Amino acid sequence: THFGTRTVPIGDKQDLVNDVFHKVARRYDLMNDLMSGGIHRLWKDQMVARLAPPRGGARPYRVLDMAGGTGDIAMRILDASHGFAQVTVSDINPDMLAVGAERARTWRYPSNVEFVEANAEELPFPDKSFDAYTIAFGIRNVPRIEKALAEAYRVLRRGGRLLVLEFSHVDVPGLDRLYDLFSDTLIPPMGKMVTGDAEPYRYLVESIRNFPDPERFAAMIAEAGFRRVTHTPMSGNIAALHGGWKV
Ligand code: SAM
Repeated sequence: THFGTRTVPIGDKQDLVNDVFHKVARRYDLMNDLMSGGIHRLWKDQMVARLAPPRGGARPYRVLDMAGGTGDIAMRILDASHGFAQVTVSDINPDMLAVGAERARTWRYPSNVEFVEANAEELPFPDKSFDAYTIAFGIRNVPRIEKALAEAYRVLRRGGRLLVLEFSHVDVPGLDRLYDLFSDTLIPPMGKMVTGDAEPYRYLVESIRNFPDPERFAAMIAEAGFRRVTHTPMSGNIAALHGGWKV
């Protein structure tokens, strides 16, 4: 795996990622708002609108929100389903989950969520146990993306749905150069100002650049077995929403 000019062995990438989120956990939500100007909220709203979780039904509707961090997606799913969905927020980082669990006490539907520490590459859940698998801004951090997609496929029931929200590659002329400038000259200093450390935010910028382009990533989703694979650009392809079904 490449981080800009450095080359990090795959086994060390997870350690680096864990260190990043350990350092930023307490300030993570604030940083998201600052660095995206609040737009991450709209992208997350769109993801959950696409999921359109049911508000009732004969059997429970279970969602695994992987790399769920501080619970932004889970909270939206619970609200959209009027508290019908049951969401498992899972993340490899206990610090992020701790912030999430604390926030969840103030949610409208606090009792329909659980927090489970797990690695997306090796899930502690049985086959076919979820109706949907969501992952927002998480998959680019996982060292072996193919393993995570295979695990997503395994834990989904037939008819289950995968939704991946991730940064993409800006494809609007002009905006691309502005975005690069913003990424290199504003993001790391902003990170340093708020968290005291610029390094995690250099990692953030590099991890976005190293993530496969949307066509390539869509192909990886299809290779994992998903059907009806789609991707939708958001905000000039700053982010993209990828979807697929286990049929
Ligand atoms: N989904 C949340 C959101 O949209 O605000 C959090 C996204 S945050 C940018 C990325 C998360 O991925 C972090 O909480 C990190 O701990 C988690 N993560 C990184 N590697 C992981 C892995 N191998 N398995 C599970 N979670 C992982």
